Amino acid sequence: MSRSPDPRSYDLDELRRRVLAEEGGGTVDDSIPQLASADPDLCGIAIVTPEGDIRSSASADVAFSIQSAVKPFLFALALMDTDGEALGRIGIEPTGEAFDAIKLESGTGRPPNPMVNAGALLTAALVDGDDPEARSERILRGLSAFAGRRLEVDEDIARNEHLLGDRNHALAHLMRAEDTLQISADDAVEVYARACAVLVDVEALAIMGATLACGGINPVTGERVVSDVVARDVVSVMATCGVYDGSGRWMRSVGVPAKSSVSGAIVLCVPHRLGAAVVSPPLDEQGTSVRGSRVSGILSEDLDLHVFGRHRDA
Ligand code: GLN
Repeated sequence: MSRSPDPRSYDLDELRRRVLAEEGGGTVDDSIPQLASADPDLCGIAIVTPEGDIRSSASADVAFSIQSAVKPFLFALALMDTDGEALGRIGIEPTGEAFDAIKLESGTGRPPNPMVNAGALLTAALVDGDDPEARSERILRGLSAFAGRRLEVDEDIARNEHLLGDRNHALAHLMRAEDTLQISADDAVEVYARACAVLVDVEALAIMGATLACGGINPVTGERVVSDVVARDVVSVMATCGVYDGSGRWMRSVGVPAKSSVSGAIVLCVPHRLGAAVVSPPLDEQGTSVRGSRVSGILSEDLDLHVFGRHRDA
């Protein structure tokens, strides 16, 4: 019986050339000038195995803001800092709506799940810290442990996200009105905006995904970043809610827990198999990278990653 191919011998540059040659379509996000000016032909791919082996394509070291790909990690940090109490404060059901829909769970006033903006505004606010500065520093340290290197915030992006994020301000005020958010609306938006503005490259993001795939242990540094229960909870919610109103289709076709973002990055997380990340700025209507989806689908097929697939190894 044939065995699943080894990700360590997979030719990511060949895959990158292949998708760059296709006419993918999509539009680059224009919510802030720094995102609008992204190179539409940027494409980087990286894979990290549980043994800590890293494989990457050309452009794997190009920096971009993490944007919504930070949401699983904010959820993880909130679960850790609240000893799991965050689970009672946020729903975990998919919404079938856009990531920035101005809507809370009916009856409870909680955010519907941690992968949409309302949820991430709350998870960011649940991370330890007495003020926005301390909370942001704690988030940066936590994200850095996931990535295995010291990450930094792009201050101009953070400022613009904070200034121009009207829907996020609206969501934070709505959560104040429902008594779900315990810090000020402006502080919550500031902390979340700074988290979205953290700079990564696909290699760092793939290591972050691999840390979740390895039950919370960073496979490159060996550090335990979060507990295995927290990692499992986060990956479960990525599987059901990570691609917003495209989550059902994604799970059927790609079959890998993932989180997309408006910078065109996607982080993938296959428990015990690998973490991966891809970036390509043009987005589809759900705000997911067009080429990123394509790369994810091909990787899933070629490396036998679909979590409900009939694995060649079995
Ligand atoms: N900065 C964006 C926002 O909160 C992140 C959204 C995303 O990547 N989908 O609006």
